[in-house]
Amino acid sequence: MDFEDTPEEIAFRGRCRAWLEANAKPLDPSASARSALSEPEDLDSLAGAKAWQAKKFDEGWAVLTWPKEFGGQGLGRMEAIIWGQEEAKFDLPANLYIIGHGMLGPTIMAHGTEEQKERFVRDMARGSEIWCQLFSEPSAGSDLAGLRTSAVRDGDDWIINGQKIWSTGAQWSDWGMIVTRTDPNAPKHAGLTYFILDMRSPGVEARPIKQINGASGFNEVFFTDVRVSDKNRLGAVGEGWKVALTTLMNERVAIGAGSGSGAFRKLLDVARVSRRNGRPAIEDAGVRQKLADFFITSKGLQYTGYRTLSALLRGTTPGPEGSIGKAVGAPMTQQMAAFAMELQGPTGALVEESVVPEDGFWQELYLGTPGMRIAGGTDEILRNIIAERVLGLPPEIRVDKGVAFRDIPTGSAG
Ligand SMILES: Cc1cc2nc3c(=O)[nH]c(=O)nc-3n(C[C@H](O)[C@H](O)[C@H](O)COP(=O)(O)OP(=O)(O)OC[C@H]3O[C@@H](n4cnc5c(N)ncnc54)[C@H](O)[C@@H]3O)c2cc1C
Repeated sequence: MDFEDTPEEIAFRGRCRAWLEANAKPLDPSASARSALSEPEDLDSLAGAKAWQAKKFDEGWAVLTWPKEFGGQGLGRMEAIIWGQEEAKFDLPANLYIIGHGMLGPTIMAHGTEEQKERFVRDMARGSEIWCQLFSEPSAGSDLAGLRTSAVRDGDDWIINGQKIWSTGAQWSDWGMIVTRTDPNAPKHAGLTYFILDMRSPGVEARPIKQINGASGFNEVFFTDVRVSDKNRLGAVGEGWKVALTTLMNERVAIGAGSGSGAFRKLLDVARVSRRNGRPAIEDAGVRQKLADFFITSKGLQYTGYRTLSALLRGTTPGPEGSIGKAVGAPMTQQMAAFAMELQGPTGALVEESVVPEDGFWQELYLGTPGMRIAGGTDEILRNIIAERVLGLPPEIRVDKGVAFRDIPTGSAG
């Protein structure tokens, strides 16, 4: 692919920058990391995030790739990438719309009834309603189709009972997309149904989970006799897996991997200001060796990312190289953060922002990276994908294939 902007892209980039400069403050490069799990700590920041999204919507900068009829701009992926690159240079409210815009909107557009599209998609684009993804359960994460939250038909409604976990943003969400088991007699992938759920329905209880970095980005969510209208069913009864796959395919693209090149530049700065044996750490041969390793890996990731982008621009579906990006990028970012903390010396072990250099950027990144290695496919699951689909190794043995869900052994006694 050609790495230079075309004349049209240069002009578009200029328009993005001009609008951002007129409406937002540039990012302070020395500011601490904005965690991917950043939460609106108070109602003001929730309102700020919504106001920013509404402004973008009103002035033609929201959900650029969505069709105009759904509140988007009908632009291509390249324009969305350019916008993202420019937006990243500004100090903006937390983005609470990654799940809605990246995953759930496309799912409603693909599987929703006309009534559902009309009711939900434009509001989602404008950001007046926030959405969460209610998929994972305590015993169904990598093996998502093993989920147990049930939905039982009752006239024109369904009654939902069960529990979800790791539901990002559920505590401040207006709507959730939930996959439930509606037929335990069918094999596990066949007995699922997908719903749009009002998070303020009686019987829904979101309990925030305290994370290692002190934030509470995600929740356990409990459902006790929660009533949802059949009108809010997305896709056919028993076809929830097919609908969920649309969400999951979009999740891979939405989460992405990043090449770590921004973190690498910051790591170089740490090596320049830290000292080893009385000299700048960057002059130490061992430090230089490590920096070279990180540089080579991050360049490899960058060019693997370009392969994905080229495939998308050609209109083809990216291959398993998407899994390589996250399988390599997330552990590399964790190792970079650990190395930066080591270079910082004894203060590197602290998390207090006022004491630690760079407002605790590396400490925050280090505590966030285990989550990166789990969300959207754990390291091991990604390696399974690479083994099976890239290297052509034999697939995992599936003892539950074709077996009614209720007959699959659970491992519990009795
Ligand atoms: C930051 C973050 C945000 C998230 N947000 C959401 C959200 O909004 N909504 C939502 O529904 N979920 C969300 N999740 C949950 C996420 O999808 C799951 O954590 C993930 O799918 C892994 O499932 P699990 O935690 O149940 O781990 P498990 O699947 O139980 O895995 C436990 C361990 O076993 C390994 N393992 C499992 N199966 C295999 C196998 N077949 N071969 C080899 N090893 C295996 C795993 O790699 C892992 O090391 C989020 C998670 C994180 C970290």
